[in-house]
Amino acid sequence: MEYREFGKTGLKTSILGFGGFHLLEIPASEVGSLLNAYLDAGGNYIETAASYGDGESERKIGATVMHRRDEFVLVSKVGDREKETAAAKIDRTLKNLRTDHLDVLLLHGVESVATLERTLAEGGAYQAALAAKQAGKVRHIGISMHGQPASLIAALKTDLFEAVMTTVNYYDRCNFPEIENELLPLAREKGAGVILMKPLADGYLYRSAEQAFRYAFSRPVSVVVTGINSRAMLAADLGFAERYAPLTRADEAELLSGAPEFGDYVCRQCGRCSCENGIDIGEVFASEAYFDRQMMRGTVGDTAQYALQERLRFWFNQKQLGLDRYAKLDPNADACTGCGSCRAACSYGVDIPYKMKLAAYKLGGKDIY
Ligand code: SF4
Ligand code: SF4
Repeated sequence: MEYREFGKTGLKTSILGFGGFHLLEIPASEVGSLLNAYLDAGGNYIETAASYGDGESERKIGATVMHRRDEFVLVSKVGDREKETAAAKIDRTLKNLRTDHLDVLLLHGVESVATLERTLAEGGAYQAALAAKQAGKVRHIGISMHGQPASLIAALKTDLFEAVMTTVNYYDRCNFPEIENELLPLAREKGAGVILMKPLADGYLYRSAEQAFRYAFSRPVSVVVTGINSRAMLAADLGFAERYAPLTRADEAELLSGAPEFGDYVCRQCGRCSCENGIDIGEVFASEAYFDRQMMRGTVGDTAQYALQERLRFWFNQKQLGLDRYAKLDPNADACTGCGSCRAACSYGVDIPYKMKLAAYKLGGKDIY
């Protein structure tokens, strides 16, 4: 398996990381078997969080694999925002994991710049992380968030964080392009380790798993973390890592054009179309992307996909951000006459007039049914 530098920390991580959330779903005996098999196969990155099962994931990892503590990079996350409670949580995490130190502590799910500021303020959780680092309980401090990356970008600009964990996959690239366009280059410039999460977009890309992992491994990231809870899944994911060869530009273009999750609905935000009535088409669809990840399409095709879309569309809880973004537009989707003169510019075949109607419904409350 390939290993990559974890930013400037001096750590090296295997490209496939083991995410601990789904360890909640299986007994500790099976957890031990999976984690040891992962390490035996060359994996060296195990990650969990204090909040997963209120410490249960940590306890299972602590009970099953700590006899091999020096063989892997151990990462956990703490979501408390205040210094005192965060400090107590870090100590509980170490106890749960049966170790005296974490290689990386992530401040968990920092959902906005306002929350970041609170975390960094006097009495905030960052001070607890720093104290833990000074005491040798934590080697490196990072930050995590899924979906839109504003708080992660702001965090890296402070130069206080050595690692960043973010969503990256070929589907959400079309919803949150700032991640690949702004966050990843900034992380490289700052020398931060980059932890990629959700290579399968929370399971949404299950039909294209190998391509999705290949896309993820091909990004400029240190490690691709995925939840694993069965031997079959572990074997498949290890196979993806072993067989990995970087995507060429042509491969990537083909994936963006033809992946089954896109159809004629998902805007890739390429910026090539324009509207004769002055609507900022890209911005309307970017608002929709924040709102529900372009998942509600007004049609039911594949039922399994539809069920996943229903489950995942508000998963990132960024509905209001989409509404706020849309509220600034003038004209907005309501001004679309359906003339269709923008269609030819879209090499992805997006049905722009239809999508405008749905955007007006979702974001502007227009009654279209
Ligand atoms: S179909 Fe709608 S978005 Fe496209 S050019 Fe006509 S008015 Fe503009
Ligand atoms: S050309 Fe198509 S993919 Fe590109 S911004 Fe317009 S609708 Fe989106």
